[in-house]
Amino acid sequence: MQDVKQEHHQKVNYDQELRNVIATWQVAKHRPTILLHSCCAPCSTYSLEFLCEYANVTVYFANANIHPSSEYHRRARVQKDFIHAFNLRTGNQVGFIEAAYRPNDFIKRVKHLSDEPEGGLRCQACFQMRLDLVAKKAAELNFDYFGSALTLSPKKSANIINEIGLDIQKIYQVAYLPSDFKKKNGYQRSLMMCKEYDIYRQCYCGCVFAAKQQGVDLKKINQEAQLFLDAQADSSSDSE
Ligand code: SF4
Ligand code: SF4
Repeated sequence: MQDVKQEHHQKVNYDQELRNVIATWQVAKHRPTILLHSCCAPCSTYSLEFLCEYANVTVYFANANIHPSSEYHRRARVQKDFIHAFNLRTGNQVGFIEAAYRPNDFIKRVKHLSDEPEGGLRCQACFQMRLDLVAKKAAELNFDYFGSALTLSPKKSANIINEIGLDIQKIYQVAYLPSDFKKKNGYQRSLMMCKEYDIYRQCYCGCVFAAKQQGVDLKKINQEAQLFLDAQADSSSDSE
């Protein structure tokens, strides 16, 4: 496990870094494979639209941080449904892999950081845990790159996410794909795509600690998520 970063972060233009990497693919006439971490559909919208022009992408849903479990399953389902709709509409063949949901792993990892504000050390540990899982899976499945759609979110530090990804690539036999998907109107485009695809946008990042700090009513979230899951189950049994 890496140490949580505490040093001053140097600003790097990771959007430009990504474009530099893509330029090397184009020179080599190579269409690489990417395992892209995402924690719900919104950040994956534009990230997929952009990357699919140049690469074959599979989304890896590895998010033990999400609480409660009904909300985890709702976000996983919304992610999967978006990919299906995106593939139908664009002719792409984006894949979807879901990791085992192990919320205790997350709690063990961050319980000493429960009072940290969103964006602080708990979030760094959370990014580290999830990017480590993505890198491990990408190496196991022989992907050319692993990366994260989280850099699309204006609430997340692209610098910290990229620094963690670049550190993790030293451990596994797979390259980290730098990004800052929010740049060049990426975030605006993701909002449009959320409307176009009628995507559920959650009101809190995912963990119980941030939800409580934000005053989110987790009982209500659980009820709504459960209703969503029940409706999905009903519609799939109707179509059988
Ligand atoms: S950062 Fe937020 S909006 Fe983006 S994928 Fe994760 S939970 Fe969804
Ligand atoms: S606020 Fe979001 S990124 Fe931070 S620890 Fe919680 S789930 Fe992870």
